[in-house]
Order: sequence, then C-alpha cells, then structure tokens
Amino acid sequence: MSKTPNYSRDDFVKAVNEQIKNKEAREAVFHALDYAQEKHEGQFRKSGEPYISHLINVAYILMTLHVQVVTIQAGLLHDVIEDCDVTFEELATEFNEEIASMVEAVTKIGNIQFKDEKEYLAENHRKIFIAMAKDIRVILIKLVDRLHNMRTLEFQPEYKQKKISNETLSVYAPIAHRLGINDIKNELEDLSFLYLHREKYYEIVKLVDNRKAERDAQVSEMIEAISLELTEHQIPHRIFGRSKHLYSIYKKMNQKNKRFEEILDLLAIRIVTDTEVACYEILGYIHARYRPIPGRLKDYIAMPKVNMYQSLHTTIMAENGHIFEVQIRTENMDLVAERGIAAHWRYKDGSTGHGQAEIEDKLSWLKDFNRLTTESDGDATEYMEVLQQDIFEANVYVMTPKGRVIDLPQGSTPIDFAYRIHTEVGHSTIGAKVKDVLVPLNTELKTGDVVNIRTSKNSMGPSEDWLKFVKTNHARNKIRNFIQKRELQNREEMISKGENMLREEMRKRKMDEKEFMKKEKLEPLFSSFNIKNYDDFMYAISVKSLSLQAVMEKLQVKTKSIIDFTKLFGQKDRPKHQNRSGIRVSGIDTMKISLANCCSPVPGDDIIGYITKGQGVKVHRSDCPNIRYETKRLIDVEWDEESIEGKFEVQLSIYCVDRSFLLTDIVTLTQQQKISISYVNAQVNDDLIHSTITLKVMVENQQTLKRLVTNLRKIDSVVSVERSIL
Ligand code: MN
Repeated sequence: MSKTPNYSRDDFVKAVNEQIKNKEAREAVFHALDYAQEKHEGQFRKSGEPYISHLINVAYILMTLHVQVVTIQAGLLHDVIEDCDVTFEELATEFNEEIASMVEAVTKIGNIQFKDEKEYLAENHRKIFIAMAKDIRVILIKLVDRLHNMRTLEFQPEYKQKKISNETLSVYAPIAHRLGINDIKNELEDLSFLYLHREKYYEIVKLVDNRKAERDAQVSEMIEAISLELTEHQIPHRIFGRSKHLYSIYKKMNQKNKRFEEILDLLAIRIVTDTEVACYEILGYIHARYRPIPGRLKDYIAMPKVNMYQSLHTTIMAENGHIFEVQIRTENMDLVAERGIAAHWRYKDGSTGHGQAEIEDKLSWLKDFNRLTTESDGDATEYMEVLQQDIFEANVYVMTPKGRVIDLPQGSTPIDFAYRIHTEVGHSTIGAKVKDVLVPLNTELKTGDVVNIRTSKNSMGPSEDWLKFVKTNHARNKIRNFIQKRELQNREEMISKGENMLREEMRKRKMDEKEFMKKEKLEPLFSSFNIKNYDDFMYAISVKSLSLQAVMEKLQVKTKSIIDFTKLFGQKDRPKHQNRSGIRVSGIDTMKISLANCCSPVPGDDIIGYITKGQGVKVHRSDCPNIRYETKRLIDVEWDEESIEGKFEVQLSIYCVDRSFLLTDIVTLTQQQKISISYVNAQVNDDLIHSTITLKVMVENQQTLKRLVTNLRKIDSVVSVERSIL
C-alpha cells in the first residue's frame, strides 16, 4: 500500500489559493475553516492529531473532486452539529441554509446503525444511506469522510477496524462505484481488504512486488514502442502503465479461481489523447503493429457504459508473447472514469448558482442517456434502474427494532409497515411506536424511523378505516381480504338467523312452515323485493331491511292470490246486494232498477239508465263505454238522495312500482278513511317492476271515493289510480 497522504492546513490553504480564483469564494472557504477550527478546538483524533486535521483532509479530497464551494464548506463543517453542539439554526445564520442542510444530512446518516447481520442487508443499507442523503453532494461528503476515516483506521481498536471495514465494503464502496468514482472506490476497497484480511492482503502485496521489476520492464518497453509510433504520426498522447488494485486481484482470484500468475500476467497500459478521432487512430496503429486477441475489442466510446464510462479496450500480443490490455480514451473520458458523476460538475470560481438543481439536471440527462442505451445493454438498464430507485424514487426506509430495513413508498404508515413484516402482524396490530413514542396508526413514516408494532391476539382484526390511509397495495389487499372473509362469515350467520326468524313468524301465523319454507314458494317473491337470491333474502330479513310483515303479505298474496280482507280486518257487515237502488226513474215506479256491475256507479256520479230485456233498468255511469253506442234503450235516471242506503262497491285499479309495504300502505290508508275493503288482488307485471293492485271498496258516495283516490295517488310509488270498467 502506498503511503497515505495527510494534508496540513498549509497544504489546504495553498490549494485553495491556487484553485479557487474568486476572492469571495476563497474567503467563504476560509471562513468555514476558521469556524470549524474554533468549534473543534481542544478535540483530538485517535491519532493524537487535532480534530481539524480530519476536516482539512476531507475538504482537500473534496476539492480534488472539483466540487463546488458550498460543498467544500460543508465538508469542513460536517462534524460541528454532531461533535460541537452547534445547531442547524446557528449554522444557517453563520453560513446559509444550504450548507446547514448538508451538514445536518451528513450528521443523520452518521447516526444510522448499520448492523452487519446478514448479507442481504447490505443492499438495504445502501438504499437507506442514499435516501437519507437526498443530495449527491451529501453522499460525496460522506464518502470522503469515510475515506479519510479509513486512511486513519490504524488508530482504532481491532474490533472497530473490522466493523468499519465491513460496512465500508458493503455500503460505501458500492455507492462510490455506482457514482463512478473509481479512485475512491478502489482505495476504500483496498483499505477494507487490509483490515479484514490482513494476511491475504500482504500476500498479494508481496506477489505484486516480487514480479514488479520484471513487469515494469515489460510495460516500459511496450510504452516506449507505442509512444514512438504515435509521436511519428504526430498524435498527442499520454501513455502509462497501470496496476490493478489489490482487492480486485483478490476478488478475481477468489471468484474465478485463478492462480495469481494468470491474473497478473495481464499487463495493462492506458493511452490518453485529446479527441475521439485520435482514439480510433491510435487503435488503428496499434492493431496494425500488434496482433489483437479476437473478441476483446470493446468500443465504449460509441456505446458508453451507463455510469458514463467511455473508452476503447483492446488486448494485444507483443512480439515476445506478452499480453497487454490497452485502454484508449480522451482526457475528458479519463476524468469521468476516475471521478464518475463528480466529474460532471465543476465549480466556477465563486459561483453560488451551481447547486443541486444543476446536479439534478445532470442526473436527468443520465436518464435520457439510459433510454438510448437500454436496448443494447442489459447491465446498463439494471444499473440505471437501481440508480433511479435509489436517487429518484421517493421511497422511505424504516427499520424494525432489530435493525432490519424495510423500504416503503413515500406516505406509508405503521400499518403498511406491519403488513410488510407479516400478514398476521398486520391483522393483529393494535398500536405502533415510532422512535419509542406511541403514534396514531395513520402516521406517515420517515426514512430512518425505527418502528415497533404492538400486536394483540385479541385484536378485532383490521379496521375498515385503515383502508383510508394505507399506502401499499400489499396492505390494502390483505385488509380487504380479511374484511371480506369476516363479512362472509357474519353473513352466513345472518342468513341462518333470517331463516329462523321467518320460520318463527310462520309458526306464529299457524302457517305450514315446511310448505312455505320451500324455495319454490319463496323464490317468486324475490323480484318484488328487488332481491336476487335466497341468501340475500334471508340476510335482508335478519338485518330487518325487509320486514317479516311484508314478506308474509307477499307470501300469502302470491300463494292465494286473493285475500279476503274482510276476514283479516274483521269487517263482516258488507252488504252483498243493494236492494234499494236509491235511484229515481222519472215516470216509472214499478220497474226493477239495479246498478250495472261493469262501471259500479256511486251516488254523485253522472248516471244513465239502460232498459234491458227482462231485467229492468241497469244504471251505468254516463261515460261507461259499454253503453257508449246505445241510443234507443237509454232512459234518464237520477239519484234519489233520500232513499240511498248502505254502501256501494267500487273497483279500483292501482298501477304502481312494486315495493315492500306497498300493499300495507294502501290497505292502511283505506282503513284510515274508514272505508272498508271487500277484495284485494296484487299482480306483479311481467316486467317484474310494476304491479297492478285491484282494490274493491265500499263507499257511500262519489265524494268519499274521490277523496280515497286522491289520497291513494299520493302514496309513494303509486303511478295511477283508476276506477275499473269491467
Ligand atoms: Mn467526519
């Protein structure tokens, strides 16, 4: 391992003066430096150095990534909230909210406990890390912070070295890789490797060193030859050998089960030039001179990797049989390869408008870029999906009390969380604690929340209210299923309860229960109650949306079709015949006079007499259609008020939209008017919606009848009431 750089305050000040041209921007950086130095005064690192050295190193490395001035400032200040009790507000006042927010986010991430329980957690930890950062600049600060802590890890006790290295390998290095910051990724991996597998690490160092002189000579020879060739053709270039980093050698030895020699035998050269065209020219000259190994040419310039990597790769064989891997790229491509996303923004001196918005811009450019390459590169698609999920998707990452990370869509609640843990946990949830505080079940969870679900075996199961606020389809479906099942169970109970109620009622009415409970007896009733089937019918009875009274009426009407209401309502005084007609026929006294049955005139109606053959005079209403065409046999008649006795039977035809209780309403209303009913018949029409009720009543006169008809017409769902003509 090469010796790790350690930058002093002077190094940093010098670099700032050299690299940041704008005076105000320089002063802003120095202000942060002085502020941090003052706040961390008296604090020391495990190495014995003043704490500020950590911050200077972090800021220095950030500067080499060419981040903006605010990010350098935040880098210097990144530990003041955590270690110096400076508040967000103080920081926002002293500097600005942007910087304060970055420092706050860095602090929060620092407080996550990444427990290394199981392998699969690593992915979740990366997610929670990125989600909490919310800002690429925060991720960069955190990566650089970790890099410097790794560089100074030798001062920590061994168990901490292992713990931190594990975390670095599973969380930090992959994030650096994703963002394409290879320099940092490689160094993080090599340092972790050192602390996790010290022996293996030194074994590989030794092997590399042993062959180094030999390899260096081979590489130098090749570099010289190529460089000469390119100079002849006047192509500007830098050319150098490169070594693989130790951890990647270790991984390759493990994964591919190859001997060390096989891996190291591959010698690597990189050529950096000024233009894309020059890259292809160089490739041409090299292939003209050395034999390319078939299938090893990769054109990542025409087809970039989605982490923005661009380069030409080829593998050639030298005259002496040595194999060389050659990378050819422009300066700009080289920068992207080393720094990834970080290479895509550079601070302009003093510019403060170079903020998050621009980075987002870069990232959305990445999205477009992805769209162009998705069809051609499966890895690229996957890479982009993961990056999008991590950075663009509004997910929240919360934890169980045991540190398991659960990712949920934004707006999720403890109920969503509970169902994600286990369906049974969801069903038996009675409460939730977030960060040890009891919260309502519709509380929106935030990334980093530790959620503790309280369950009870005696819980009533999910509440329908939960459906109003759950966010995940998973929870929604589980809740719905449960409620449906519960209702179905209830329903079955209700159906049998309905059956019992109906039986009971039949017994009370002394009806033949066996006979009437038959489906073929009951089914014809369903349509008039707007009910589809037997179960619905019994359910309606049990929940009393359908009255037993109405059912019994229909059942009996349907069965007998005609009910003798006089029996039912105890009116036995109905005159069978009208002996005294109460009608006067001028000039005729002896003639038998009777009222026609077809139109049933009542006192007050306009009437006319018809002289029958042998049956005397039949009195019709004057508008009765049965006598409309008669001329000869008609005779004038009139009511004889004094001799009118008793009541007159009239038949009404009531057309209505069928419903429960309709018959009851009609009968009740008629009785309230003290009009007795002699006959009633209800007939459901073929359309199953309308019914015609035939009602025969006994009235004194037209006035009474008119009042009855007017009131019947007022009954809900009665369409028309007419006097029948038979
Ligand atoms: Mn730190």
